[in-house]
Amino acid sequence: MAQQDDVFKKIVSHAKEYGFVFPSSDIYDGLSAVYDYGQNGVELKNNIKRYWWDAMTLLHENIVGIDSAIFMHPTIWKASGHVDAFNDPLIDNRDSKKRYRADVLIEDHLAKIDDKINKEIAKAAKRFGDAFDEAQFRATNARVLEYQAHRDELHNRFATAMNANDLEALRQIIIDEEIVCPISGTKNWTEVRQFNLMFKTEMGSTADGAMSVYLRPETAQGIFVNYLNVQKTGRMRIPFGIAQIGKAFRNEIVARQFIFRMREFEQMEMQFFVRPGEELKWFAQWKEWRLKWHKALGMGDEKYRYHDHDKLAHYANAATDIEFLMPFGFKEVEGIHSRTNFDLSQHEKFSGKKIQYFDPELNENYTPYVIETSIGVDRMFLSVLCSSYEEETLPGGDTRVVLHLPAPLAPVKCAVLPLVRKDGLPEKAREIVDDLKFDFATHYEEKDAIGKRYRRQDAIGTPFCITVDHQTLEDNTVTLRERDSMEQTRVNIADLHRLIHDRVSLASLLRKLK
Ligand code: ATP
Repeated sequence: MAQQDDVFKKIVSHAKEYGFVFPSSDIYDGLSAVYDYGQNGVELKNNIKRYWWDAMTLLHENIVGIDSAIFMHPTIWKASGHVDAFNDPLIDNRDSKKRYRADVLIEDHLAKIDDKINKEIAKAAKRFGDAFDEAQFRATNARVLEYQAHRDELHNRFATAMNANDLEALRQIIIDEEIVCPISGTKNWTEVRQFNLMFKTEMGSTADGAMSVYLRPETAQGIFVNYLNVQKTGRMRIPFGIAQIGKAFRNEIVARQFIFRMREFEQMEMQFFVRPGEELKWFAQWKEWRLKWHKALGMGDEKYRYHDHDKLAHYANAATDIEFLMPFGFKEVEGIHSRTNFDLSQHEKFSGKKIQYFDPELNENYTPYVIETSIGVDRMFLSVLCSSYEEETLPGGDTRVVLHLPAPLAPVKCAVLPLVRKDGLPEKAREIVDDLKFDFATHYEEKDAIGKRYRRQDAIGTPFCITVDHQTLEDNTVTLRERDSMEQTRVNIADLHRLIHDRVSLASLLRKLK
């Protein structure tokens, strides 16, 4: 774990050193859980968003996009339930004065019990070798059975307390399990309280009678309140979806782990409207499609898993997370929820407007059911960064830091490097840049030795370096160096476009999805 923490720290400092992510308001020592994206970060982030947007709107002819405002009528948040119930259970440790989410403390504790079970299994697997039968060991080993029974009982208590919003019961679990504060090591806990995560501000001057408004905590409501507009103007027929990318704001109690949990972040959400009764079929379909989207990036199928929810929101009838293996464990990157007709019905009730769909095939009116897919851009960014980062030892004993970014997501697609800064090589290199720059993000660099320049491009994940040398002037060939293998091949300038395009185009990624 300590080693993993170490790697994570290195990734965070790499992100800053190479212009991916800076702490917000850096010269004022930062602002907690708020970050800025730098010159390379913004490109990577835009490419992630483009991959999602195109996968939704180009590959599905029944999905369209919108861009709704961050400020919305405050009654929307009453209708959606956010004013009354968008809370986290908060607990303080009196000694360290640190604040925690009570549910997270308990979840971490459950994960520790899982670790103990897994350790027993790993030990036994080593002892028995090929003859090891994990299922049998789990069913018979006294220690594992004891851990498992304890875990199951605790898990039940936890799920019951969460579903009933029973704060006292949550606190009792923390006391009974003797969970200590990771900072002070003590069990000196306060009561558990509910904490609303929405940021509130005032709109209009006081003379006008200012109105309290919220910074939206999710983009989804902007889609629901535009359902009628889009359905009517786009003449959409069910099933159809509306996609949106935009900022969301949550006053998170504990914001940590870099851009994993931020107070200002970005979401990519799609609400898919279906016939009542068909929602679970579509839920299963979207679960499969979304995982395929992640896996197409080639970061390793074993790094993903589904996590079905124990606690369903009162309006949901199925929910799952897609989790990704971060350096700090499997963590939620995307949520897929079957939200029934809750949101549209609530808006119908609170707005007094009829929000229904006339289904010509069934010849009836109904309130559509909704499947939601909701992914955080920043968490996706973090998963890409973490799985791409490698400190590689090369055959000669040299080391390099390389980002094995999926090529279509890389901020820079190719760098054009004249071997020396004379003899007409820079001019020739510029000619190549002037040709490629219309299709690919292309860098020109002439400073420092060529090896150093290669390293700099490796560190930002540039898939190709093109080196212009004296031979280029004679026969119009260059060396094309590939980031991961570091292999260099002599190619014709006329072939560059095709060779690069084959690897870096977003279309190549999108084709894997169908
Ligand atoms: P968590 O349990 O981690 O707080 P959540 O279940 O509340 O997340 P959702 O409301 O389902 O999250 O939001 C959908 C997605 O938005 C999440 O899967 C995540 O990628 C992203 N997200 C949510 N909160 C944050 C945050 N504070 N910072 C960055 N991304 C976030």
